[in-house]
Amino acid sequence: MLTSAEGMYYQDDKGRSVLDGCAGLWCVNAGHGRKEISEAVARQVAKLDYAPPFQMGHPLAFEFAERLAEIAPEKLNHVFFTNSGSESVETALKIALGYHRLKGDATRQRLIGRERGYHGVNFGGISVGGIGNNRKMFGAGLSGIDHLPHTLNINLNAFTKGLPEHGVELADALEQIIALHDASNIAAVIVEPMSGSGGVIMPPQGYLKRLREITRKHGILLIFDEVITGFGRVGKAFASTRWGVEPDIMTTAKGLTNGVIPMGAVFVSDEIHDAFMTGPESMIELFHGYTYSGHPVACAAGLAALDIYEKENLFDRAIELEDKFAESLLSMKELPNVIDIRNTGLVAAIELAPETGKPGERGHKVFKHCYENGVLVRWTGDILAMSPPLIIEPAHIDQMVSALREGILLASN
Ligand code: PLP
Repeated sequence: MLTSAEGMYYQDDKGRSVLDGCAGLWCVNAGHGRKEISEAVARQVAKLDYAPPFQMGHPLAFEFAERLAEIAPEKLNHVFFTNSGSESVETALKIALGYHRLKGDATRQRLIGRERGYHGVNFGGISVGGIGNNRKMFGAGLSGIDHLPHTLNINLNAFTKGLPEHGVELADALEQIIALHDASNIAAVIVEPMSGSGGVIMPPQGYLKRLREITRKHGILLIFDEVITGFGRVGKAFASTRWGVEPDIMTTAKGLTNGVIPMGAVFVSDEIHDAFMTGPESMIELFHGYTYSGHPVACAAGLAALDIYEKENLFDRAIELEDKFAESLLSMKELPNVIDIRNTGLVAAIELAPETGKPGERGHKVFKHCYENGVLVRWTGDILAMSPPLIIEPAHIDQMVSALREGILLASN
C-alpha cells in the first residue's frame, strides 16, 4: 500500500521508502508532490470548481489548448479534452470516422490496429488493441477491424540500444490489408509509436515513416496513441517530434497533468478540425463529449505541469540521460535468463526467459525482490518495465539497476 510520495520516492504502509521506477503508471513525469501543481489545483477549486463544456466555456481550457498546440507537432493545432487515455482513443476513432463521412467518404469505416497494441479498455480501444487477455472475455468487439503484426523480434533485435535496425518491412503488411479491403473502406490506422503495455516495443528504424507514407498514399488517417510517449518519455514533448513523423490525430493523457488529475487530450490537424467546422454557429459540430471535458481543475493542473516541464527542460531530459540509462541497463545483459533488454529515452524493458511451466513467475520474483529492497518496477509477466520520472538522477538509475541485478540473480537460483 502506497501512502505518500515526494520527488522520486513513494512511502508505503510498512514505512519503506520506494524509488518510483515507473513514474506511477507512466504518468508522473515531473516527479511526485509538486507544490506548483497542488497549489494551482487548490486555487482553481476555490475560484471556478466546474463549468459545463457544452454551450459554455471557461478561459483555462482555451489557454491550456493553446499552450498544448504550441508544443504539439506542427499541424496538430486543435485539442479535444477527455478524462483518460481510453476516452482519448474512443474520441480519436470517432473523429476519424466522422471526418471521412463529412468529406463524402462514408464507406471508409474500417479501423486498423496492431498486435500487442494497447489503447485502453473501452470497446473501440480493445477492438483495435492487440492484447489477447484484454479482449478474450468481452465478445466480438467492433466489426471491421484488422491488425498489423507487432514489431518485437528478439531473434534479430535483442539488446538493441535505441531503435532496432530490423523490421521496417513489417509496415508493408498495411499494403496487404489495403489490397484485401480496398483503401476506400479504411478510415484509420492507430498505433502507439512505442508500444508500452504490450512489452515496451520500440519501432524499428524507418517503420513509422513507412506507415506514414502508406497511409498518406491511400488517404487513410494515421493516429498515434501517445498516452505513454507524450510529455517527454522518449525525449522531446512527443515521440512523433523525436522521430520526425507527424500523424493526423494524436491521443494523450497521463503526463498531461503529471498524473495528478485525470485528463486526456486528443490533438487533430487543421484539416480534420476544419472539416467539422462548416455549419452555422448554432449547430453542434461533433456529437461527442464528456461532462468533465476540459474540467477547470484538470486544466489548472495541466497548465502547472506544463510550466514545470518547460522551466526544468524535462522534455530534453530523456535524451540527456538516454545513454546512461541504456548502458546501466545493458550492463545486465550477461545475467542468467535475461533474453532481451530494450530501451529508448527514459523507458526500458528487461525480458526474462520464463520458468518452465510457470510463465510470469520469474518476473514476479524479480519485481518482488526489487520492491522489498526499495525499488518499484512494473511487472508484466516475464517482462519488467522501467519508466521513471524525468527528474531522475544518475544515482537513482544505479539504485534501480543494483536492485534489478540482485533480483535477477536470486530469481535464477
Ligand atoms: N493508450 C495507451 C497507449 C496507454 O498506454 C494507455 C494506458 O496505459 C491508454 C491508452 C489508456 O489510458 P487510461 O488508462 O488513462 O484510460
